[in-house]
Amino acid sequence: MLSIKNVKASVGDKEILKGIDLEIPAGEIHVIMGPNGVGKSTLGHVIMGSKNYTLNTGKILIDGEDITGLDTAERAKKGLFLAFQYPVSIPGLKISEYLRNLYNLRHSKQVSVSEFRKILKSKLELLNIERASLQRYLNDGFSGGEMKRFEMLQLMLIEPKVAILDEIDSGVDVDAQKIVAESIKHIAKEIGTSFIIVTHYQRLLNFINPDKIHVILDGKINQSGDMSLVEELEREGYEYIRQPNSSSL
Ligand code: ADP
Ligand code: MG
Ligand code: MG
Repeated sequence: MLSIKNVKASVGDKEILKGIDLEIPAGEIHVIMGPNGVGKSTLGHVIMGSKNYTLNTGKILIDGEDITGLDTAERAKKGLFLAFQYPVSIPGLKISEYLRNLYNLRHSKQVSVSEFRKILKSKLELLNIERASLQRYLNDGFSGGEMKRFEMLQLMLIEPKVAILDEIDSGVDVDAQKIVAESIKHIAKEIGTSFIIVTHYQRLLNFINPDKIHVILDGKINQSGDMSLVEELEREGYEYIRQPNSSSL
């Protein structure tokens, strides 16, 4: 469970987040929407404790434990995971080795190559990833869809308490979107991960069927609702819900 309490945060001397409150129970999938530049990515970075962002006031808690004072690595150890909009590629690092190290680190284990094969089997099937592709180098020359599926594989191995997925559907075809959506639902249900998903697109959300939608406007959560809010935004745009007399207020 992730709790964000009255978070105000700045980039440089500009305050971007002006009092964000958010509660995401274990296993729930919440979506953050809002116009470009409103601070959706900023929120993700602030939750992860990135040094480029200043938390002016407020608290971030995981399962009731205040993690506001921790650095990014310590937050990751507590079970926070942020997937970047553009994942880094690391030529020279084989995916299979990378994933096994990640797994061992996260679970304080030393599983062998053959043990790890067994752990991977059902996950590769679910994500429709061919085993041979694990011999490639991390994200090197991958298509958008491949990168996202490997990201989902990372999530399944890390088993985070909280996962923040920022614009995961940019440049991903509809088949890969379906796989991504199915894996998000699977991870939320089986592992109990709380998800924050940032997206501009209704299609991915139709596949995911999230628990809640939040719209950030002017540095605050302006509105929360269910999928009908997404449909309203598709129809009317963000300016419409900013109006004090719009139907949804
Ligand atoms: P969104 O993800 O909603 O499109 P962002 O969180 O990326 O918005 O950005 C919010 C505002 O903060 C924008 O005005 C953006 O230019 C600014 N900003 C974000 N990150 C940085 C940064 N590292 N350096 C300078 N300005 C930034
Ligand atoms: Mg943006
Ligand atoms: Mg962004």
